[in-house]
Amino acid sequence: MGYYHQAAGFIGDVPFVLQDFPLVTNVQMSVPVIRRIVADMPSCVCLKHEDWPGLDKISALRADGFLNRRIAILCGNGGMFLPEEMGRGADGAMTGFAYPEMMVDVVRHMRAGQLDRAQDLFDAYLPLARYEQQPNIGLAVRKYTMARRGIIANAALRRPGGALNVERVWETCGYNDLAKRYPVKLVNLSTAGFRELDYEGTKVKISEVFWRCGIIINVAKYKTHSLTGFTGGLKNLYGLVPGLIKTDYHRLYPATKDFAALLLALYWLTRSRVSYSFIDGILGMDGAGPSAGRVRNFGLLFGSRSIPAMDYTAARLMGFRMDDVPYLREALHGDGILPSRIKVPTSFQDFTLPDVDIRVVKLRKELLKYVPGIGRKIFQKVYYFHPRISERCKSCGLCVRSCPVHAITPPAPGILPAVNPKVCIECMCCHEMCPHHAVDIHKSFLAGLVTR
Ligand code: SF4
Ligand code: SF4
Repeated sequence: MGYYHQAAGFIGDVPFVLQDFPLVTNVQMSVPVIRRIVADMPSCVCLKHEDWPGLDKISALRADGFLNRRIAILCGNGGMFLPEEMGRGADGAMTGFAYPEMMVDVVRHMRAGQLDRAQDLFDAYLPLARYEQQPNIGLAVRKYTMARRGIIANAALRRPGGALNVERVWETCGYNDLAKRYPVKLVNLSTAGFRELDYEGTKVKISEVFWRCGIIINVAKYKTHSLTGFTGGLKNLYGLVPGLIKTDYHRLYPATKDFAALLLALYWLTRSRVSYSFIDGILGMDGAGPSAGRVRNFGLLFGSRSIPAMDYTAARLMGFRMDDVPYLREALHGDGILPSRIKVPTSFQDFTLPDVDIRVVKLRKELLKYVPGIGRKIFQKVYYFHPRISERCKSCGLCVRSCPVHAITPPAPGILPAVNPKVCIECMCCHEMCPHHAVDIHKSFLAGLVTR
């Protein structure tokens, strides 16, 4: 009591919240003590109730005439007992949860007397609320979810807070449960080692895991891609390159044709071990893919033993010609496949998906092909597609770390990161990596006219 008198006297008329959190403070605050604090200190306006669960305490404090005046009671502990606490007389919650809107709605329903609705809503979120209660990583899980939702910019925790490694992310996203059910083993390609192989002078680092598997099924998404136009089964093999080595290759192979040669080397080195490939186009993407385009419900699933044949068919359906995808002709040729001999269902033979936007990705480098080397630099001054960071940026810094040539200045308080167009090699990694789709593709006047 002496401490509270001293503290309340020190802050004068400033209203304060009394926090009752024995789990962390190891101080058991009895109901009579809380009553005395409320009675002696008029500036105490709220109790943050974090006794676990301490429902009887709320009931006692809310009993008629027990306190000399009404103070607010707000619950903590991640809202784990919110409906019950509200039922005992709490006013709401003052706590963290990855979906705070759930708590807002639970409180609203409780106040409206809709107890069943409140409980049903709460129960739907309870597994995650419980999951967030894990010591060490609970807050990391919450921040990870909030960052994925775009609510906060960065999931990092101050020390000594725990961090989510890839394995924890799998757990949070439900991959571990899936793996157990089927059963499959999840492997982190970034930490499993790699082999560096040489294909006619092009060296490629490929995850060690790939060489240890007996059957490889390659599953790609059906999307446009700002660097290679289209992304399907062959581009998906790039995922075999571990972690940040991928970024490094963008720096080493900035020109599209060189990057395509790298992809082809990867394909020649791995094709004999890939048993079957799919492109999942049930939900796909057009426009500024692979991450900032329009999500489209194409309702298509492609499958083949031949990756180039599958990619050719899928790209053609989107409206691409063979040479729009920089590695396709050579891949088909290398496998001895004639496009006219690729077997597709009759109904798809002359079919092109309607209303698919491939203009930006298709024309980004198209015109440059026709400009001779000597005039290319000048032409690029009037015909360009530069990444530009928009106001949607949350300053998470992921693009800065992803840029292979350090062309992006880091964010600072009140200052967004910015791309230096003189350094940028237009690999579009920043555009692909930004979790908030905050990197726009800024077109020059000429590029805008061409792709209008
Ligand atoms: S633009 Fe860069 S810093 Fe901004 S939100 Fe996207 S990745 Fe993060
Ligand atoms: S700024 Fe973006 S597009 Fe330019 S080099 Fe860096 S990551 Fe690539």
